[in-house]
Amino acid sequence: MQYDVVIIGAGLGGLECAYILAKNGLKVCILEKSDVIGGALQSFKRAGTEFDTGFHYVGGIEAGQSLYPLFKYFNLLHLPWHKLDTDCFDKIVIDGRSFRHANGYKHFTDTLAEDFPSQKDSLRKFVDVIASTAARVNAVINEPTSAYDIFSDSLFSTSTRDYLSSCFSDKLLIDVIAGSGLKIDITQKNLPFFIFAEISNAYIQSAYRLECEGSAIVESLSDDVRQMGGEIFTKKEVVSIAVKDGKACGVTTTDGDFYESDWIVSDVHPAVTISFAEDSFRNIYKRRIRSLNQTLGMFTVNIKLKKDTLPYRNYNEFIYDKADMWSFDADKPVDRVMVSYHYGAPSLDLMTPMSWKQVEQWADTAVGKRGAEYEAFKARKVQECLRLVPEIADAVESFTTSTPLTWHDYTSAPQGGAYGISKDCNSLSNIMLSPVTQIPNLILTGQNLNIHGVMGVSMTSVLSCNRIIKTKIL
Ligand SMILES: Cc1cc2nc3c(=O)[nH]c(=O)nc-3n(C[C@H](O)[C@H](O)[C@H](O)COP(=O)(O)OP(=O)(O)OC[C@H]3O[C@@H](n4cnc5c(N)ncnc54)[C@H](O)[C@@H]3O)c2cc1C
Repeated sequence: MQYDVVIIGAGLGGLECAYILAKNGLKVCILEKSDVIGGALQSFKRAGTEFDTGFHYVGGIEAGQSLYPLFKYFNLLHLPWHKLDTDCFDKIVIDGRSFRHANGYKHFTDTLAEDFPSQKDSLRKFVDVIASTAARVNAVINEPTSAYDIFSDSLFSTSTRDYLSSCFSDKLLIDVIAGSGLKIDITQKNLPFFIFAEISNAYIQSAYRLECEGSAIVESLSDDVRQMGGEIFTKKEVVSIAVKDGKACGVTTTDGDFYESDWIVSDVHPAVTISFAEDSFRNIYKRRIRSLNQTLGMFTVNIKLKKDTLPYRNYNEFIYDKADMWSFDADKPVDRVMVSYHYGAPSLDLMTPMSWKQVEQWADTAVGKRGAEYEAFKARKVQECLRLVPEIADAVESFTTSTPLTWHDYTSAPQGGAYGISKDCNSLSNIMLSPVTQIPNLILTGQNLNIHGVMGVSMTSVLSCNRIIKTKIL
């Protein structure tokens, strides 16, 4: 089997790389270890209800906004996108008080200024700064070579917490602004401001969820890849990368099949990718990659609601027991949840950060056979989550859960980290990984490299493929 490019992993990053490369006439194939493609974008069915795993909403998909050019290029605009409430796409509840994040820079500012009138000028400055910071990050799509220069800017090596503290004198407003940060690993005190700015900016521009399951993104991309001649194989777990004359030249899967190719793109976590060609990476690189911290994992409760109990909400809720986004302590009872409703279905997801340490003792057990203690641990966590949302607790018909162990099993993410490698503003040059590896012709892609999420992974796919072909997105 001979290809121009073999892609390891059919997560969003792998599918988008296949899309770009096939569109540019290359013969590509994707090898996916699971029996379902999509990685963190998979959907699944329980008790007749569809649930999503790692997708709830996107921002900035209208013409002129951040994600629009990428979604246009990847033919994702035709999906049934449903706009969340413009007056409140994210509702932040802290200690029982509610605050609204609204769409549009002015509307966002004016809405929060109703609750924090003395901070109006600071809010104006904040939206200007996130818009200009995001514009700088977005420019990287057109000028991939500038990608690693921008980290030298002082704003790029500032933490989100420090920037917000310097911008606002009202501590509660800082928590309200950072309140939707459960989708950004906000608990990380050194989370670089540019990541927060890039993601928040897109959602302030506009926020959409799908009227169907999130796997529609995966279906659209995979259909197009196949139509352009690309091949996608499931149940094909890559175990090694062959290196000949110093260059990557193919991969072997667990069943012994060999796929020869000129280039290899890995959408798998870099620490796992290293293990495919252990002897060909320098020790210093291996040590560096393996020493990087992972983001926290996520505990998710996928809930089917009793019929006609809780009406659909066209916004997300971020509910905190008390203020201070950065006070997360895995050993304490759950004190924060994100709630995401499903369009047109009596179901929703509750999510809260969870550390690997909490589930590590069951790491050597198999899915479905982790034992009574694990089940009791999860049942306790479900009750802790539901305590924060009593209305929902009363409406639960049935539920299913996932932990960082589940993520680890399904995507191979070390420690089940929800957003991959943790980004620390104090060591950007160490943490922001180039797609280029020490093995010529082996390229990395996916959420671990730059920014996670649909926006970040899509940008990174372009950067990764630019090492193979020059492609024009805009
Ligand atoms: C709970 C949660 C909610 C989220 N919500 C949102 C959201 O609302 N909006 C948003 O934009 N983003 C969201 N995200 C983030 C987003 O889902 C991810 O950033 C993105 O899907 C990651 O894609 P990826 O391709 O980098 O990695 P992955 O999806 O992890 O893909 C890696 C693929 O490689 C495969 N693989 C691993 N090892 C091998 C091997 N040896 N051989 C072959 N294949 C292999 C895996 O099975 C997987 O399919 C969320 C994430 C989480 C965890």
